[in-house]
Amino acid sequence: MPRTRTYSPATVSERATRASEATVDLNRRTDNASFGAFAGSGRAPDLPNEHTMSTPLQRLQLTAATLVAMSCATNPATGKREFTLVSESQEIAMGQEGAQSVLRESAVVPDSALQRYVSGLGMSIARTTERPNVPWSFVVLDDPVVNAFALPGGPIFFTRGILTHMTSEAELVSVLGHEIGHVTARHSVRQMTNAQLAQVGLVAGAIVSPRIAQFGDLAQTGLQLLFLRFSRGDELQADELGFKYTLNNNYDVREMASMFRTLDRVSGDEGGRIPEWQSTHPNPDNRVANTENRIAALNRSLSGLRVGREDFLRHIEGLVFGENPRDGFFRNGVFHHPDLRFRIDFPSGWQTQNQTTQVVGVSSRKDAIMVLSLAKNGTPSQQLSQFLGQQGIIPGRTTAQPINGRPAAMGEFVAQTQEGALAGVVAFVSHNGATYRILGYTPSASAATWQSTFRTAILSFREETDASILDVKPNRVRLVQLPRAMTIVEFNDAYPSAIPVTLLAIINGVEETQTIPAATLVKRIVAE
Ligand SMILES: [Zn+2]
Repeated sequence: MPRTRTYSPATVSERATRASEATVDLNRRTDNASFGAFAGSGRAPDLPNEHTMSTPLQRLQLTAATLVAMSCATNPATGKREFTLVSESQEIAMGQEGAQSVLRESAVVPDSALQRYVSGLGMSIARTTERPNVPWSFVVLDDPVVNAFALPGGPIFFTRGILTHMTSEAELVSVLGHEIGHVTARHSVRQMTNAQLAQVGLVAGAIVSPRIAQFGDLAQTGLQLLFLRFSRGDELQADELGFKYTLNNNYDVREMASMFRTLDRVSGDEGGRIPEWQSTHPNPDNRVANTENRIAALNRSLSGLRVGREDFLRHIEGLVFGENPRDGFFRNGVFHHPDLRFRIDFPSGWQTQNQTTQVVGVSSRKDAIMVLSLAKNGTPSQQLSQFLGQQGIIPGRTTAQPINGRPAAMGEFVAQTQEGALAGVVAFVSHNGATYRILGYTPSASAATWQSTFRTAILSFREETDASILDVKPNRVRLVQLPRAMTIVEFNDAYPSAIPVTLLAIINGVEETQTIPAATLVKRIVAE
């Protein structure tokens, strides 16, 4: 859910500005988004462990299908002739469209100095590559996951999550270089071409899955491009190009190995969940060793190459670490939003996710879904009649009883979609000057099972009064200059962090037993 605070768009980079406008725009967009889902857009819910590969690919296949122009082109990064279905202008157009979707669906980090820093570094590296003139852009998203990704033809995104795991400018440049490498070698284009070729063989056997997941109005559209996994071969090539760009710009390439080591440790630390970086950048086996081999093969002194530890760390000081509870969080199945001052109980045992523009819950059998989002301005009754008046919706019983003292309107409905009939309950509730939409739906056949569950959840919407929740603070990165040499464990005893020491070691790029020299700047994570 969006936070209430905004920041001045004029102070950040051009691209971040657009993102902030998009964020502000979300309230108005909510309703448009609502029933696109029922129209059978075929998008899958973006839930943890639910990164269905088929739907984003289907979408890309459709995109690619409209763009068929078979040709052979020279790959700018490799100089090889390649069969491609996508021209450079199409590649750029797709990337720009994807970037706008990302910026509509994701907030950017409200720190203009950090945005300028990352963007400035990215631009300076990109200008030294084989494709200096595509519309490069570099934006840091306000997202705790550890990830970075490139869209076709120039847009590159970093999460604050990956930045908080880095310890130097050279580490940042090595990941920038890797992402830039995906763009210069046109990996997205290759994937889209492959997807389209694969479709030729698959289309006859296509089966429409009846799963409710297919109806979800949850997908973070732009992020679908992320799930276009690059192949291991592409990853190898991006690593190789990233190494070259890092070195060409006089950065210490040993930091690339340390960054990959950190990313490996993060994936080991995430307890079974597929980490974002690994899911979008499959490890081409021994990424760290490959980098070390490249370093050895250079057969030259690396002294004098830039590391930029302090410069980098000063830029990320104060950055939020992990989930920001001010944006809302789940605790024991209850969704709390401290800034918007409300809470709501989601059905017990459901898989839930707090996304940028909405909060989503899906039943364990994935046959029912609930979505909480901001509605347009207007009274709950006006909102309800507008919702029920949409084409394809058959309204049922409606009521206009307050919900826990808040003005509200609720109605049942059936919606006809290409994939069959859905039955649901929708409610609009006004609270502190905003109107919220709470929507639950299921295939018609399961309506009897879920209708009362939907109602119970809807009727639990109420004001948040728990002071400990209203005052919750995010964890942030703070820096300490070591007064004497010590291990990270000793550091944590002297300057405790709000995260486990194993994670603290990872984000500082050290082993727990390693002695860190005096005067080193070390990251600490604290809620102030
Ligand atoms: Zn990659």
